[in-house]
Amino acid sequence: MSLAIVASRAVAGLDAPPVRVEVHLAPGLPLFTIVGLPDTGVRESRERVRAALVNSGYVFPPGRVTVNLAPADLHKESGRFDLPIAIGILLASGQLVEHPDRRIEHFVLAGELSLTGALSPVAAALPIALAVARSQPAAILILPAGCAAQGSRVPGLTVLAAPDLAAVTVHLSGGLNLPHAQMMSCRSEMPDQPAWPCLSDVRGQPAARRALEVAAAGGHHLLLSGAPGSGKSMLAQRLPGILPRLSAEEALEVAAIACLQGDERAAWDACRPFRAPHHGTTPVAMAGGGAGPRPGEVSLAHRGVLFLDELPEFRREVLEMLREPLETGTIQIARARAKVSYPAAFQLVAAMNPCPCGGGLHCLCTPEQRQRYRSRISGPLLDRFDLLQAMPSQDAEWLALPAGEASRCVAERVLSCRNRQTARQGCSNAMLSAGRIESLCPLQASAQSMLRQAMQRWRWSARAVHRVLRVARTVADLEGRSQIDDTHLAEAIRYRRPLASADAIGS
Ligand SMILES: [Zn+2]
Repeated sequence: MSLAIVASRAVAGLDAPPVRVEVHLAPGLPLFTIVGLPDTGVRESRERVRAALVNSGYVFPPGRVTVNLAPADLHKESGRFDLPIAIGILLASGQLVEHPDRRIEHFVLAGELSLTGALSPVAAALPIALAVARSQPAAILILPAGCAAQGSRVPGLTVLAAPDLAAVTVHLSGGLNLPHAQMMSCRSEMPDQPAWPCLSDVRGQPAARRALEVAAAGGHHLLLSGAPGSGKSMLAQRLPGILPRLSAEEALEVAAIACLQGDERAAWDACRPFRAPHHGTTPVAMAGGGAGPRPGEVSLAHRGVLFLDELPEFRREVLEMLREPLETGTIQIARARAKVSYPAAFQLVAAMNPCPCGGGLHCLCTPEQRQRYRSRISGPLLDRFDLLQAMPSQDAEWLALPAGEASRCVAERVLSCRNRQTARQGCSNAMLSAGRIESLCPLQASAQSMLRQAMQRWRWSARAVHRVLRVARTVADLEGRSQIDDTHLAEAIRYRRPLASADAIGS
């Protein structure tokens, strides 16, 4: 046979579309070419494959070796095609003869070769395994031993761990079996679930604690405003600890994103991510992209919390970029040759000072200065926060206050409230579509007139009204009520007052 076809995978966003690695040998002057839009990484693969074959005791075929990576329009970075190319060359040149029970078409291969023939781990092992399990569940995935454990987390998929090129050829020819990738052996080295700090550390601030619980219970976006030291970040850091645990499917998705970022530790634990990028962060770091490309903060926070401290200090373009993922739960990144998209369904929690000096007792800022400071956050972004909560400065007496309720207790209420929402509508209240709000959030006549007054007073858009109704639904659900009554709606309206009036009342 002078032609061989080996299956591999490219990576596009969180997906890993199939790639056919075709190897053709022909007589002629020695020439080794790889076609199919390869970038530098793939061109370097030529040298690695040649050396790995020779150093593993095989003969690099004389004559013309042509490798085609198809389809041609997929972006194929990284050395993960080394292994399928080398196996293709061995098959095409007759140096490897498959065992009848181990035909190459049953396998998907990915791995970067070192010059000695050893296999180095590839990025995106988990996204590749997820994609293979989806589209070719019967296929056997061969990965480098260093990253095969990640792939083995996907239920139902057979993943074999290969130390080097020779071990793969021995396996395919019916000799010594490659071992199944072991998730457990690796897991023992991984840290336990990080324990989130407990809400009992937060003394006082009953209104803000309540807002945090409502935000957690319905998946709503929260903006905290208060002077430095009022406990905004302390509160925000405790949100993941009261959110429901990730389902197995969600945990895999979160781990796959962490895996693309090369964060092996984060890829292993099953808790909700908490990302707190600095206000100096760049648009690329926030949205994702760059060479690679890599997911940004909005995707690393997927199914978890994105916390932006000192919100007005973030670059305008960084803040404006948040609008797309907040609306759609995904982010599109335009690249030179293609567009990739990553999931980015995060819960946004932000904190800001009430004024440029930080506020507090010694503030001398004028109302104009305060207004200018707040206006750094555009109306459309501000509109996307469901709850605006002011946190008053605490006087020295707070030390004498009793410890707050523990996260464990709050998390129980949040979980039963979420279960209620899932049973009723299959999603959290924050995800309710505008079309379903009317039927799921009915108001009595008195509540309707209360809402109308608030709409007129603060000139709320339809979007703002929908957000108020979703929050009111959550407040009623926390009480286990199917009807939204006046007190539930009043609380939801209170969370949406403009911050200027909230500050006045809060301090
Ligand atoms: Zn001030």
